[in-house]
Amino acid sequence: MSLETTLILFKPDAVSKNLVGTVLARFEKEGFTIRGLKVMKLSDELLAEHYAHIADKPFFPEVRSFMQESPVVAMALEGENVIARVRDLLGPTDSAAAEAGTIRGDFGDKGGDAKMRNVCHASDGVETAQVELKRFFNEGEII
Ligand code: ADP
Repeated sequence: MSLETTLILFKPDAVSKNLVGTVLARFEKEGFTIRGLKVMKLSDELLAEHYAHIADKPFFPEVRSFMQESPVVAMALEGENVIARVRDLLGPTDSAAAEAGTIRGDFGDKGGDAKMRNVCHASDGVETAQVELKRFFNEGEII
């Protein structure tokens, strides 16, 4: 077991459908602890960094404008093995392929945007989480 902190982003689809509280409750039910929470508008620069690994994909411009449709809610979430456990709770990137009972399976887009409008981002590893938390939270905002 290892105590970790992960970055969660409630994406604009979660915000516009008023699903932030419902999804956050699933994380709280697991016993995870909120260490930081804020509403943010994501700039082109921040998104270029955050999504550098998909910057050369044809769908990147669409993802960037989706992530700017509304502010997002960023959260630093702590818990034992929280990084892998949250990824399991989310389900796969493609919401249409995500099983019922997962967050993306229950709340993600099931139509043509299923691979993009998938409710939440969550860090995929210990090093990524450290870099992403620094990217989205200033010194003193994770408590
Ligand atoms: P994840 O967020 O599950 O770790 P990736 O890092 O591969 O997935 O992709 C980042 C985000 O880009 C996804 O969460 C999704 O919003 C979007 N995305 C990924 N693949 C596609 C695709 N084929 N078409 C449209 N959007 C995509």
